[in-house]
Amino acid sequence: MSAAPALSVVIPLYNEEENIPILQRELTAALAGLDYEIVFVDDGSRDATIAKIAPDAEGRIRVLKFERNAGQSAAMYAGLHAARGRVAALLDGDLQNDPADIPRLVAEIERGAADLVCGYRAKRKDTVVKRITSRVANFVRSRFTRDGVRDTGCTLKAMRKECVSALVPFVGMHRFIPALVKGAGFRLMEMPVNHRPRQFGVSKYGLGNRAIRATVDMFGVRWLLSRQLRYRVASDAPPPGS
Ligand code: UDP
Ligand code: MG
Repeated sequence: MSAAPALSVVIPLYNEEENIPILQRELTAALAGLDYEIVFVDDGSRDATIAKIAPDAEGRIRVLKFERNAGQSAAMYAGLHAARGRVAALLDGDLQNDPADIPRLVAEIERGAADLVCGYRAKRKDTVVKRITSRVANFVRSRFTRDGVRDTGCTLKAMRKECVSALVPFVGMHRFIPALVKGAGFRLMEMPVNHRPRQFGVSKYGLGNRAIRATVDMFGVRWLLSRQLRYRVASDAPPPGS
């Protein structure tokens, strides 16, 4: 494998076969001129998602294939840990996020403005029900976990690789990336990003499975952050006389 790239783009995929060719085209255009790799994480798709991923001559395309569906958090966690770049970007694989936004977010990390840049969907292109539940969930969650972020549901993010160490592997973790990263002492900022309606495939979430689980998880994350180990090593020297 070639030397580590500057940027790793991590994309969770679960039954997104129709979106892959368009997504790859958009990524190639958006990332032209950047030193990058793409880590596709196939989360046990039962359609032709994997077969649709085109390799590239430069070897920038990597595919992590799960044995079976393990969930969006698992896919993002595994992808971020496999990422080799000093900056990692996260993106949904259903074309709702726009790859064209990635360079702007990455530039903020590169110039040291923040350790984690969170996209927020300025103009949501989802159903009314989804927009309302998401707004309520974001309001409650941001106050409860003190992440100060208006839209964690927006997958589009960029972070310094060091931020990955703050992530805790639990089902539902993907909604609390800003809370966990901020809780570990990293600096966050937000940027408006483009959002598009889902054209192909279906959303993997219904009302019930998202709202109830995310509420339970919120209490867990708040507890975890309140119990975080906080220490600084003053010195790490050999014992005197050795
Ligand atoms: N996803 C995944 N595993 C899952 C569910 C979803 O990898 O078990 C991926 C999915 O393919 C998409 C992203 O996570 O790339 C977001 O999922 P979806 O679009 O269904 O979420 P929504 O936009 O409805 O919040
Ligand atoms: Mg989606």
